[in-house]
Amino acid sequence: MTVFDELEQSLAGQRTVVVGAGILGTTHALFALARGAHVVHLERDATPRGATVRNFGLIWVSGRASGPELALALRARVLWEEMAAFVPEVGFRANGSLTLINSEEELLVARRALARSDADARGFELLSHTEVLRRNPALKGSFEVGLFCGRDAAVESRVALGALRHWMTGTGRYQYLAGRELVGVSDYEAIDHRGDHHRADHVWLCVGATLSGFCAELFEHEPLRRVRLNMAETEPFESTLTTSIANGDSFRYYPNFRDDATALLKEQETLAQRYAIQLLCQQRLHGGLTIGDTHEVDEPGLFETADRPMDLIVEAARLLIGDHLPAIERRWSGVYHQVDPAGSEIYFRKGVAAGVTAVTGAGGRGMTLSPAIAEESYQ
Ligand SMILES: Cc1cc2nc3c(=O)[nH]c(=O)nc-3n(C[C@H](O)[C@H](O)[C@H](O)COP(=O)(O)OP(=O)(O)OC[C@H]3O[C@@H](n4cnc5c(N)ncnc54)[C@H](O)[C@@H]3O)c2cc1C
Repeated sequence: MTVFDELEQSLAGQRTVVVGAGILGTTHALFALARGAHVVHLERDATPRGATVRNFGLIWVSGRASGPELALALRARVLWEEMAAFVPEVGFRANGSLTLINSEEELLVARRALARSDADARGFELLSHTEVLRRNPALKGSFEVGLFCGRDAAVESRVALGALRHWMTGTGRYQYLAGRELVGVSDYEAIDHRGDHHRADHVWLCVGATLSGFCAELFEHEPLRRVRLNMAETEPFESTLTTSIANGDSFRYYPNFRDDATALLKEQETLAQRYAIQLLCQQRLHGGLTIGDTHEVDEPGLFETADRPMDLIVEAARLLIGDHLPAIERRWSGVYHQVDPAGSEIYFRKGVAAGVTAVTGAGGRGMTLSPAIAEESYQ
């Protein structure tokens, strides 16, 4: 029995249309089904190629801002675990994370996070060098201590979407229409590029950030920005990384640490600062290590990925993991939509016609938060 089985059948007999088969659209489809609806799911590509399949698959609680954002992340983590109970291919693992610390200043940032009242909710522990090695023996690099977050987890992003669709098809109330591009909406309907009108009691637009035509115009004047990240994956690693890994630079970019990091840490060197580089690393179930990332804001025309920033990230990974870090096998970039970080919203939601709502903008926390955002959509 999961929370999905216990949901009130408030949409029984209704029809829901979801556009976009990334994680946000997929979880919107899943919740509509769990509430009893029939679902039609439109996706412009044969299989989704957006931010979801390009991400680390980190269900990241440690860095979330205290208050509503942390509460949403903790709720989402519960929902991820529940989804994996009936779709194990999602690959949910409660592996926790280690942020490996290499300076007095980074240690001070960690200590301040440990002193906050929500440190226990995040499962924070400061581990000595020996305790880090006990928890994650594959780390053969150089670091002093580690901040462990027991609530961080991981999933297999590239596998999860297809596995969830397969499960939804089995309900007999789900239809996936690939190769259908949304080109317009009117009240209670989505219109695709073939001119088909998909009528519904409710239409959800979860189209992500890589947009053109009608969908690009939909968000043109909204408080959203696009952020591009560079990523890489290694050949299979000979050992097992038992936790996700981050370095102290990650403190600069996550709201739970950012103010202290800004006050206490030395500036990054020019290139690292320009690309807002941090190290995050997650081992895939097939063995390779997903590593990243950089952050470039609002450069929609950019098509090439610069080599040197990724070289810096690989150096940072080698520093912590050691010389047995495997060679890089592939590189890619990805783009997410982020609601104005200066505002108080955690994500963007807007009615665009009667019975038609657009949802996007969860930014670098979208994989983590999507199930909880979808749950909120039906409350
Ligand atoms: C490199 C990278 C790493 C990240 N790492 C993490 C992480 O580890 N943890 C975390 O919590 N978050 C992470 N994020 C953020 C997270 O991946 C995103 O917030 C999330 O995947 C957004 O999901 P989405 O469904 O809104 O968008 P997408 O996954 O981009 O899906 C949108 C879908 O809509 C489809 N679509 C677009 N236009 C149309 C149209 N007109 N008609 C029909 N279909 C359309 C697209 O083809 C696409 O399949 C990362 C993001 C990136 C880019």
